[in-house]
Amino acid sequence: MLLICAAPFACRAWGFYGHTQINRLAVFCLPPQLFGFYKQHIDYLGQHAIDPDKRRYAIAEEACRHYLDCDRYEHNAPLDTLPMWWNKAVAAYGEDTLKSHGIVPWYCHLMLYRLTDAFKEKDLAKILKLSADLGHYIADAHVPLHACGNYNGQRTNQQGIHGLWESRIPELYLKDYDVLTETATYLDKPMNAIWTSVEQSFAASDTVLRKERELSLQFPGDAKYTYETRGSQLVRVYAPEFCKAYDASMDGMVERRFRQSMNMVAAFWFTAWVNAGQPDLPSIKTDVQLSEEEMAQEQKFKEGLILGRPEEH
Ligand SMILES: [Zn+2]
Repeated sequence: MLLICAAPFACRAWGFYGHTQINRLAVFCLPPQLFGFYKQHIDYLGQHAIDPDKRRYAIAEEACRHYLDCDRYEHNAPLDTLPMWWNKAVAAYGEDTLKSHGIVPWYCHLMLYRLTDAFKEKDLAKILKLSADLGHYIADAHVPLHACGNYNGQRTNQQGIHGLWESRIPELYLKDYDVLTETATYLDKPMNAIWTSVEQSFAASDTVLRKERELSLQFPGDAKYTYETRGSQLVRVYAPEFCKAYDASMDGMVERRFRQSMNMVAAFWFTAWVNAGQPDLPSIKTDVQLSEEEMAQEQKFKEGLILGRPEEH
């Protein structure tokens, strides 16, 4: 039997399961005008929810689209130093600096524009692909450890916390989450909305790290870990008792961010459609084939050599 440590080779934000569920559940947050169309394609949206993570194995520039190290620019929330708009941020810091510390809010905004264009063109394949991708990036922006440089507790000897917060806890408790939310609404200022999400993530990151540090004192040595069999491997994971206590210490934060992700994903999809002039959408279910580029990315993902930061961020 092979023994591997906690934090498997790529902890994906929200994990595979979490991202899939956010994209699927976002459909149920949509206003009626768009619900029918997205409901038809709910399986596609779920299945392709981690495509952006898969691209990290094929495209070096992909990694920085998933996070923003807010503490590179600011000590605390609010985010009032870093310019909200890309051109101004580039003028202040340069593109290389921005890319090396993450660009998630700007990328969400760019994806919103692309999705709007896809709606205008009524291009089904593009609409679905961009909707699935956009859902992923927005969900990432809601994860506190995607908003700070100490994203895996590597500066504070808390390695593994990244996967604990966004994968292990949702895997254990997502089934108990209340996934009914209010209907998503049109966003007058989508850029403000995504920046608010990132700012909330940044504000919460301190709690996420501090609570784990405090709780670890009550689980001395290796007591916070246990071993589970995954396939033919014995894997070290955070013990359920530790996860439960950690989740409770954050007072429902993981569930809250999960629900906010779902709703914001739906709000972005709806906003793109409204901004495109509310086009009629094809009512026939059409299978969407992978393009050659997507097939090549799938292959690289299977080969498993991640580009950029080794720990998903
Ligand atoms: Zn991601």
